[in-house]
Formats: sequence, structure tokens, C-alpha cells
Amino acid sequence: MATAPTSTSVEYEVVIGLEVHSQLLTTSKMFCRCPADYANAEPNTHICPVCSGYPGVLPVINEQAIDYIMMTALALNCEIPDFCKFDRKNYGYPDLPKGYQISQYDRPISRNGYILLDVNGEERRIGITRVHMEEDTGRLVHREGKNSYTLVDLNRAGVPLMEIVSEPDIRGAEEARLYMEKLRTILVYLGVSSGKMEEGALRCDANVSIRPRGQQEFGVKTEIKNMNSFRSVERAISYEIGRQIEVLSSGGVIHQETRGWDEDRGVTVSQRSKEYADDYRYFPEPDLPPLVISREWVERIRAQMPELPDAKSKRFVEQYGLSARDAGQLTAEKALADYYEAAVAAGTSADTAARAKAAANWTLGDLRRLLNAGSLDITESRVAPQGLAELLDLIESGKISGKQGKEVLEKAFASGDTPAAVVEREGIAQMSDSGELERIVDEVIADNPKAVEDYHAGKTASVQFLVGQVMKRTRGRARPDMVSPLLLGKLGAP
Ligand code: ADP
Ligand code: ZN
Ligand code: MG
Repeated sequence: MATAPTSTSVEYEVVIGLEVHSQLLTTSKMFCRCPADYANAEPNTHICPVCSGYPGVLPVINEQAIDYIMMTALALNCEIPDFCKFDRKNYGYPDLPKGYQISQYDRPISRNGYILLDVNGEERRIGITRVHMEEDTGRLVHREGKNSYTLVDLNRAGVPLMEIVSEPDIRGAEEARLYMEKLRTILVYLGVSSGKMEEGALRCDANVSIRPRGQQEFGVKTEIKNMNSFRSVERAISYEIGRQIEVLSSGGVIHQETRGWDEDRGVTVSQRSKEYADDYRYFPEPDLPPLVISREWVERIRAQMPELPDAKSKRFVEQYGLSARDAGQLTAEKALADYYEAAVAAGTSADTAARAKAAANWTLGDLRRLLNAGSLDITESRVAPQGLAELLDLIESGKISGKQGKEVLEKAFASGDTPAAVVEREGIAQMSDSGELERIVDEVIADNPKAVEDYHAGKTASVQFLVGQVMKRTRGRARPDMVSPLLLGKLGAP
């Protein structure tokens, strides 16, 4: 648990709750048939009278959106009550032509869930208050200059969102980042969100307060908005914790307010005093019926759920004998886990346990390094899972050494050729001709009389030096398991 250090004797405990909005990957908008994807559309081309807020129109509920929210709620261990309803959240803003958003106030689709986090080896359980539906607003495009003006684009208006509200159970900035990362992983596994924070598909508001350690009541919180990366979530919260400690330690008070994160300056800035639920004049949406959610519906959605990251990670430990750490890293991204499993399945190794471990090492090591260097996704890897399996087969059969394997992988990755083709083309192979190897061993013995002398004088470690010399002369092509016996045979007893 994070403890905020202070200069005075008071030790503060940090309390954080996150409100995350995620855009749902539905085909159409929440209450009309306009396409939900606005990323590359010309402004105001995905609009109709419903999402533009014309009078007299009627909304129709997008069932796919409800399914996705329900699936998310189940993945977050929430209860799904039999009944939920929609409410109007009223406020005036130029990107909101209706003057209200349709949301869910006191009867959300789901409540009372939790998410499990691994925080530096400790399991932490963060409560999920609720997951509910909310429709998105339009966007304002500001044009600066002498005659500055603002344009309204309604392509995003009415796009389905879900809001995932956590309990104030998070105890530090790093924990908040881990929560966001875990949440994103789950949403992407489910296929309900693209998870692209940088594109605004996942938006986080952080509620932060501190209290003297041991105190029961919570301190006054501030809410931070505008964080568009995991890193800025952690940085913004860290900054805000420091600011609050400073205010309280110097005898000041924290005001409940909304603050914005200024990424460039690395500070949070006061934006406005917080609005309360009363300010929104919530009331039941009169144009939509409440939804009665049958247990059959819930079970149908539950049956469609894919294996989730925690379960997959556990299975990787059991099935492949991986460490919890490796399994956790491989399953942090579904595409990476899929790649790994395909590579293990494609190999021809007899020693399946060793192969599973080797495939994990190569995927998380050299392959990931190459991907990172090129800012590539695992799905964009130029070495397919079959290619990685082929590489491991080449190493296991002794055709190439592990060290040569790194070179082969790099060349295969750069060219898109298979590892076998690279080995063939480049003439990379281990020296398995014992005659040639013997000649080099003789040379090394003749050229290093001091080391040979040391060996006979009882310094057996000098054998390692001689092995190293042989490897060097063969430019790594010799098989270490052949070099040592050959050397020892020639040197005789120490
Ligand atoms: P509000 O009514 O001010 O919007 P809510 O009770 O709806 O507050 O909670 C909004 C979010 O703030 C939730 O994620 C909740 O966990 C979190 N939260 C509530 N109280 C605190 C607090 N004192 N410190 C930090 N986070 C809090
Ligand atoms: Zn529309
Ligand atoms: Mg609230």
C-alpha cells in the first residue's frame, strides 16, 4: 500500500477511485442506425435526426451495446439485476444538441463487482461499483487565430459508451495505472473496446483524496480529467497526491473540484468547482422502456465470453510449466498469448516442456525486442508463429546454435523469409564436421601453452578459456557440447 511521505509527523493514506469511459465496438450508434465509427469520417457525415437531437424523434436501443456492457460486467464479477432503466442527464453544451445525455442513474445494468490486480506480487482486489450505459457527445473543433471560431462535429454524438466506476479502493498512483492496464486487457480480450487510449476509446477520470493514516472518513477529493495514456494517469495522480499533501501540511484545505491534467507542464490545474448529481436534474428517460433482463439473456452472454487473462495465465502455468511472471506477460495481450500458443503447437519437439519454455523466452525476449524496436504489434510480426517454431526446431536439432538463432531471427524478421530459408541462404550452420573442429582444437592448444600449463598444474578453470578460444575461431559455429569433450580428450588428465 502506498504511503505518502511527509515532512511533518502526519502520515497520509492515498484514496483513489476511477471512472472510466470506454467506447463500445458496436457497428451502429446507441439509439440510431448511424455508423459508430467516427475516427476517419468527414465531419457530420455519420448523423441523422436522432443523434442530432431533432425534436419529435424516438431512440431505439442498440442490443449489441447492451450485450457488450453485460459481458463486461460479467467479466468484472458484477451482479446483473433483473431490471435496469435509462435516465436523462441534463446540461447545456454546444456539443450536446439534445441538451441531455441518455445515461443510467439509479438502476444501472450492473453493480458490485471487482477486479484483481497483481501489485508487485501482492494480490489486490479493487471493487467495481457499477458498469452502466452512457451515450457520447459530439465534438468541438476549435480554430485559433484572429477570427477564432469553433465547429461542431456530431459524428460522435450518440456513440455507445460504458462507464466503469470503481470503489475508492485504489491506494496509489502506480496501482491506478495497473488497474487501468488490467481493465484495458480485459476489454480488449472481450472484443468490446479497441482499448486505444490515445484515440480516446478509453477515457479515465481519477478521483483522488488523502487522509491521515488510521482515520476512518475519507478526505475531500478532487477529480482529474484529460489523461490520455497510462503514463499520464500515473503522473497526474502522483502530482495531485503531492499537491494535496502540501496543501494539508501547510494548514490549507482541499476544495472539491474538477482539475485538468496539463501533460506538457506536468501539473493539474483547477477547472471548475465540482457539479453534483442535483445539478444534472436526472429523471427517467420517457422515450425508452426500462429493460427487463432475463436470466436466459445473462447466461447466453456468459456462454459467449472468451477465456479471460487471469484464467489464461493460470492455464499457461499449468499447461506449459511457465513461471507466473512469464505467463502474466504473455497473457497481458490476447494477440501475444495467441501467438505463443500457435508457436508451441507448430513445433516438432519431443520435449514439449522444454519447448514451451523456450518459446516463451524467445517470444518475450528477442522477438519482443525486435517488435519494440520497430514499434510493431505482435500481429504485425514478420516472423509468424510457425517461423518461431521452425527456429526452435533448428536450434533443438543442433543445426544452429542458440546464438546463431538470434541472428537468424533478426534476419527472418527483417526479410520476412522463414528461418530455414535464412539458414540456407546465409550458409549459417553449426560445425558438425568433427575433423574440422579437431583441427581447430589442435591449433588452440598449440597457440595457448600457458593455459595448457595452468590446466595441468590443476587450474581446471582454464579449460573454459580454451573452449572460448575454439568458439571464437569457429565464429560461434562450433557446438559447445562437442568442444569440451574433444579438448579434455586431447589435454589428458590434469
Ligand atoms: P460523486 O458523487 O462526487 O460523483 P461518487 O460517490 O459518485 O462521487 O464517486 C465517484 C468516484 O469517486 C468513484 O470512483 C468513487 O470510488 C470515487 N470516490 C468517492 N469518494 C472518494 C474519495 N473521498 N476519495 C477518492 N475517491 C473517491
Ligand atoms: Zn444517427
Ligand atoms: Mg458520481
